[in-house]
Amino acid sequence: MPTAVAGLDPEQTAAVLAPRGPVCVLAGAGTGKTRTITRRIAHLVSDGHVAAGQVLAVTFTARAAGEMRTRLRALGIGDASSGAVQARTFHAAALRQLRYFWPQVVGDMEWQLLDRKFGVVGQAASQVGVSTSTDSIRDLAGEIEWAKGSLIAPEQYPEVAARLRRDTPTAPEQVAAVYAAYEQIKSYSTSLDFDDLLLHTAAALEENSAVAEEFRDRYRCFVVDEYQDVTPLQQRVLDAWLGQRDDLTVVGDANQTIYSFTGASPKYLLDFSRRFPDATVVRLERDYRSTPQVVELANQVIGAARGRIAGTRLKLIGQRPAGPAPLFAEYDDEPGEAVNVAAQIKKLIANGTPASEIAVLYRINAQSEVHEQALTEAGIPFQVRGGEGFFNRQEVRQAIHALRQTAGRDDLPEGADVGANLVTLVRAVLVPLGLTDTEPTGAQARERWGSLRSLIQLTEEVLVHEPELTLGGLLVELAKRAEARHPPVVDGVTLASLHAAKGLEWDAVFLVGLTEGMLPITHALGSGGEPDDEAAVEEERRLLYVGVTRAREHLAMSWALARNEGGRKTRRRSRFMHGVVPDSSPASKIATPPTRERKKPRCRVCGKGLITTMSTKLGRCESCPSNLDDAVFDALRNWRSAKAKQQSVPAYIVFTDATLTAIAEQLPASETALTSIPGIGAAKLERYGADVLAIIRGEPVEVSDEPLPD
Ligand code: ATP
Ligand code: MG
Repeated sequence: MPTAVAGLDPEQTAAVLAPRGPVCVLAGAGTGKTRTITRRIAHLVSDGHVAAGQVLAVTFTARAAGEMRTRLRALGIGDASSGAVQARTFHAAALRQLRYFWPQVVGDMEWQLLDRKFGVVGQAASQVGVSTSTDSIRDLAGEIEWAKGSLIAPEQYPEVAARLRRDTPTAPEQVAAVYAAYEQIKSYSTSLDFDDLLLHTAAALEENSAVAEEFRDRYRCFVVDEYQDVTPLQQRVLDAWLGQRDDLTVVGDANQTIYSFTGASPKYLLDFSRRFPDATVVRLERDYRSTPQVVELANQVIGAARGRIAGTRLKLIGQRPAGPAPLFAEYDDEPGEAVNVAAQIKKLIANGTPASEIAVLYRINAQSEVHEQALTEAGIPFQVRGGEGFFNRQEVRQAIHALRQTAGRDDLPEGADVGANLVTLVRAVLVPLGLTDTEPTGAQARERWGSLRSLIQLTEEVLVHEPELTLGGLLVELAKRAEARHPPVVDGVTLASLHAAKGLEWDAVFLVGLTEGMLPITHALGSGGEPDDEAAVEEERRLLYVGVTRAREHLAMSWALARNEGGRKTRRRSRFMHGVVPDSSPASKIATPPTRERKKPRCRVCGKGLITTMSTKLGRCESCPSNLDDAVFDALRNWRSAKAKQQSVPAYIVFTDATLTAIAEQLPASETALTSIPGIGAAKLERYGADVLAIIRGEPVEVSDEPLPD
């Protein structure tokens, strides 16, 4: 038997041995699509159907292209020599071609690659007069990318955005104006962005027959992996490459379409046999990657999907020996979840699973922080993929820089950066960087906000253990944490977003943060009575499917009901868990995470342990000096009498003097900080939290004289 089909099943073999011409492999996760195309290339080359150098294999990420090259090399046809099969991303292939053909098409005019478009988008935004904040620019850049990937010109943008009901970063006409200005600035400086590489490559081939002839003579056989995520622009390049030919093998899984936000669409995959009626179409159902337990769960997750894409799914049939049942766990709070996941990872490693065969996957990069911290504390090496790691994020670096500058100021009032005041101070420093009270709109703004919020959370956490913490101490702590994670790790546990995990596999996978608002993500959900965006929710479901199918053996899924340690449990587990969590699982009830040891409360003035209720509430010995903010205290007292009158109750029912004193001393800036004052629980927070926080911020708070209805 020829080596190209050794160890393949009959359907995989059929795809490998199909004659030159259109081939489409439509199959679920882990069925060997990537394996099949590399074998097909090997077969076509070794049987002399095509020369290795005439094959161009494309995929979407540099990592996947690298993986393909490795596999081709193992088959003896992927050497870096020019006679080898080319395996590249669409962009890398286009860049190479454009460099080669440019002189022939344009002449000796120089061009440069614009690999960071922020500056130009910023100029365009300021020309048009829209916000040039970092987040606005990032969101505008994302929207321009979507439009270009979807082949939508600036003048078409408002109409299309309205038709598709896009969540645009600013008014559609303004986005269009920024997009047009961006294109113009770019053309003055003859710069090309990544999408221009694709556009110009397609145009060069479409409009110049000599170029097209030379190219088509050079490349004769095309292969595309993950074809469900092709954008209209990439498809146009592919069409230009092919011309009238049909020597094209595509493989994909419509149920793994997770890049719609870039304009990607599975329609090209699903319509392949309509476009090429004599295509060989192969469907694979055997799952070689995962245990039957994981496969069954994957089938359940995707089985609940709706819509056209879902109609194309095939039920996967697990081929591997049985393994452990997937685990589900509900935790009280995120730090508890992270600590517990780290403990499970430690156990797996102790039992022989290499760290590099373990992954923690989440929905957005901002979620990595709490896990980076828990793994660091557990002494487990890790690497963050797709995101750059918490401390390398731009907003985190900016925040630390700003905190350092604040620490260097000599005009800070005495005690302003100590203990509970520290949270207020840090908060004040982070507000100009985008730390708003409520979650902002816009994907980039949300990520940034999430990071800044993590910093506040981290400060509050350190304070629990070190009530006397100062800003200087916090900076030392942050530096220590950054340092502890700094050493580059090759063989560590992988932390990655679900998007970055596509096509990859690990022995053990932890899917974390599975709550409503995270998966599905907030922007898929309707607000203010609006219905959910069903298409967006379905894409979120596919993301979960991608996550589940990354696991070979161990799969653990978890969520936490509160964000902060001991915080209010305001979250609900993801709707996708419904009907998936078995009744026998402890997660159908609440699992109690191992709680971190909390230190006994200590006086923030003298450091002695606190015993009496009064002193615990104040956070200091009753005899130690108070740093009460008199103005806030008076405002609170006035507000309290008005409230008490309104509710016809004695003042102490609203808040006791001790509680008011504690508030006016500690000046909590967030709901979390407020509830950390003993005596302020969920009910008080709900009833009075907003007023109290407003008073602390110095805002006027009106209490009407009208008695409240019963
Ligand atoms: P995804 O949709 O996640 O990209 P895929 O369909 O591309 O998955 P592969 O990555 O090619 O799947 O294969 C999944 C795993 O199964 C790999 O470890 C691969 O080596 C193995 N595999 C594929 N086909 C076979 C087979 N016929 N026999 C044994 N193992 C196989
Ligand atoms: Mg694959």
